[in-house]
Amino acid sequence: MIDFHCHIDLYPDPKKVVELIDEAKIYVLSVTTTPKAWSKTNLLSKGKPRIRTALGLHPQIAHERLNELGLFDRLINETKYVGEVGLDGTSEYKFHLPAQLQAFKHILRTSTHAGGKILSVHSRKAENEVLDTLGLFPDAGITVLHWFSGPQKQLKRAIDMGCWFSVGPAMIRSMNGKSLVQIMPKDRILLESDGPFVNISNRPALPTDMELVARELGLLWSLSVNEVKQIIMNNFNTICKIGHDERH
Ligand code: MN
Repeated sequence: MIDFHCHIDLYPDPKKVVELIDEAKIYVLSVTTTPKAWSKTNLLSKGKPRIRTALGLHPQIAHERLNELGLFDRLINETKYVGEVGLDGTSEYKFHLPAQLQAFKHILRTSTHAGGKILSVHSRKAENEVLDTLGLFPDAGITVLHWFSGPQKQLKRAIDMGCWFSVGPAMIRSMNGKSLVQIMPKDRILLESDGPFVNISNRPALPTDMELVARELGLLWSLSVNEVKQIIMNNFNTICKIGHDERH
């Protein structure tokens, strides 16, 4: 199984989460929210080949951390993965959109110069702006839109642009989320927990919960859990191959 967007470093006991992932043999993309967090988070998964640590600058804090963009550039060649990055246009953060945009463009430019990355991208209430910006950097890499919740029109545009999607527990539970997932190409879907920011049964979601998401996807697609898992694993192998990440 896979979890393509999990904030391992933000759980109360990250080491325990790493052990859990290791025992369950789950492939996890461990995303970070600031360049400063990358090295320590990467150390958490030392000797755990199924966990990859992405270099990120979360749009909700980008305006406070523009001074870490230099560190982002210095770390870029350490990983194939960038995330969590993107734009957030919700009322609390839209005031900072110019700074978010400055950070996001910088990150996409650096990713382009580095030869392309696999990016986990946040687009909440800024779907149009995210796609416009991605369009300016066609060689930045492969975009995986995480928890895409935007209008269908923007979803169709994202599909046409070649974006991938990571689908999590919250999406699969909401009516809007389900209708969006129905439109997404099956061969460009990955799973995500977005833990610890998403709750399942009053506790933070974990990579081990991806089984539940696979079951819900099965109901939506009229497929068995095993068939869904097969599709997800095939997709994962495909994205690793086109992203030149040799997996074990
Ligand atoms: Mn997240």
